Amino acid sequence: MPRPMFFRSLRWQLQAWHALLLVVVLAGFGATAYQLQRASRFRGIDRELDAAALEVLRFVRDRDPARGRPERVIPRPPRLGAGGIYYVVLGRDGAELDRSPEAPDGVRPPGDAAEGRPRHVNRGSYREALFRTPPGEVVIVGRSIAADLEGFRRFVAGLIVAGVAVLVAALAIGAALAGRAMRPLQEIGASARRIAAGAHSERIETGELPEELASLAVLLNEGFDQIEETLARQRRFTADASHELRTPVSILLTQTQAILAHPRAEAEYRNTLEACHRAAERMRRLVESLLILARLESGEEPVRREPADLDALAREATEAIRPLARSNRLSIEFRPAPAPVEVTVDADQIGQVLLNLLGNAVAYNRPDGSITVSTGSSGAESFVRVADTGIGIAAEHLPHVFERFYRVDGSRSDPRGHVGIGLAISLQIVHQHGGRITVESELGKGSVFTVWFPPCRAPGGA
Ligand code: ADP
Repeated sequence: MPRPMFFRSLRWQLQAWHALLLVVVLAGFGATAYQLQRASRFRGIDRELDAAALEVLRFVRDRDPARGRPERVIPRPPRLGAGGIYYVVLGRDGAELDRSPEAPDGVRPPGDAAEGRPRHVNRGSYREALFRTPPGEVVIVGRSIAADLEGFRRFVAGLIVAGVAVLVAALAIGAALAGRAMRPLQEIGASARRIAAGAHSERIETGELPEELASLAVLLNEGFDQIEETLARQRRFTADASHELRTPVSILLTQTQAILAHPRAEAEYRNTLEACHRAAERMRRLVESLLILARLESGEEPVRREPADLDALAREATEAIRPLARSNRLSIEFRPAPAPVEVTVDADQIGQVLLNLLGNAVAYNRPDGSITVSTGSSGAESFVRVADTGIGIAAEHLPHVFERFYRVDGSRSDPRGHVGIGLAISLQIVHQHGGRITVESELGKGSVFTVWFPPCRAPGGA
């Protein structure tokens, strides 16, 4: 069952614990203060009673040296009476031998009073000290403690009032402090809400935040940076993809509109249909590339990695591209590494990467140029390299050639159907294999693309 809102609020939880702790501390403090006060007051009264009892005991002895039963009522001891102290003397048989006039009725020893040490008891609103004389008489000396009990009640009432006042004040201060402590969190929350609602470039202000929250805010800001970057990339991607699709679509529309305006000769229809076919083909390639890229980036494209011979993969791709190279008057050569190079890869995907690189080496080459494919290892890494003698890439373009839709010539309507996505797909595939692609190029001389693979791992390994 979900907890009610109150218990999920950090602020209210803090408040509740604070209140509980305060109540326990105040109750403990109050109870201790009350006990100490009470014990100290009773000690004072008992001392008073004991002093009076000594008088009475002496008097009992003086009055009856034979320890026998007195025959007459005797005048009461001189010091008693002041302060409302009374006494009662009971004989061994429990019969009352003597009592002071102030003594209340019903004074009886509770159980037995031990000889020697006095026993102090409360009887209703009286405090009494009981002594037993060696012959067995019981002397009870007491006084009213009604005023003291009333004093205790007032003391307890005062403690409760003070406790409640302290509790209320402490809770109010605690609430204000908790509110203050929570304010930066609320500000972070408000910023996050504004960012989520569309203020993508806003960031959480970290300057004034306490240290613990500042590091959280920095992390959140980094997350927002990434989200903003992703959104911007997504927007660019959508804009570029629409732009790329617009060209073939407008070719289709203008060609068909023009041909349908008047009856034409068969050759003209044929030419138009061929142009339309090329435009449709271009759209198909673009859409397929976009789908592949989207699947790769979302991780939907499964990577089935198995041990493979890199030489065999490179040789296969070289042979696949040879007819295209030949028709472009290019020579193509494969130079395998001296020792076999084993990699753990998805052979289909790496084959696609090699075809992309070789396709570019053909497309951006010069007439009678050449392409060299080679494999090898350097340290723990293995590599396959595609070098061409083509137009090369200027240094300022090199960092961007792996971006989607990036083309060095900038023209959006490449007649050969190059849309600037091949290298982006290749990079994505290689990254999923834990590898990297490097490029070196010199304008007018040619380019060298190298795909690096991490050390070979057993299939199924992490
Ligand atoms: P495209 O489909 O346009 O070839 P790529 O992503 O494969 O897209 O390449 C991006 C850009 O990089 C190309 O448009 C081209 O300008 C440049 N490029 C790629 N390979 C080469 C190369 N071997 N020589 C010169 N330029 C290249």
